[in-house]
Amino acid sequence: MTQASQPSEVRAALFLDRDGTVIRDVGYLSEPDGVELLDGAKDALHRVCRSHRLYLFTNQSGIGRGYFTLEQAQAVNARMMALLALPPPGFAAVCIAPETTGQPFIYRKPSPAFILERIAADGLDPARCWMIGDRLSDLQAGVNAGIAAVLVHNEAYFDEQTRRFCEEHRIPSFPSLSDALAGIAPPAQ
Ligand SMILES: [Mg+2]
Repeated sequence: MTQASQPSEVRAALFLDRDGTVIRDVGYLSEPDGVELLDGAKDALHRVCRSHRLYLFTNQSGIGRGYFTLEQAQAVNARMMALLALPPPGFAAVCIAPETTGQPFIYRKPSPAFILERIAADGLDPARCWMIGDRLSDLQAGVNAGIAAVLVHNEAYFDEQTRRFCEEHRIPSFPSLSDALAGIAPPAQ
């Protein structure tokens, strides 16, 4: 986990899933060379990074499964951040949850632990925090933390359970991160 400072008056925040939300989800990505930003993600994050703290919140069960190491996951993150080229601090904090589905977990989504920790530690306003991701567990983490959740629609993961969860919790769905951020924080006219 890394941290950097940001003006204390910024209390709005975006908790962002990584794979399938900011970068292309290729499954158990372990090589920095495999990082590909999704269309529009970079410009959209540049537009909102002054008004919102950005947090990266990613499940990486490939670590728990022994497919790759934490250091490799961090190298992938570093490549993504280099491509995004956000002004400092970039992401205010990063959570890589290494557990697999079968292991006891602390941070693995749908756990809200990371979000709740940052809300408390960074003085965030839960009413102005969003969890954005492409899987049900992203949405559940947001709802479990008591913040709004937003779905970046991914055909591969949009099953009946996800559809029902969105309906029950009135979770909006967008075709991309760029569209989601336009919905949350419309550009100034
Ligand atoms: Mg994802």
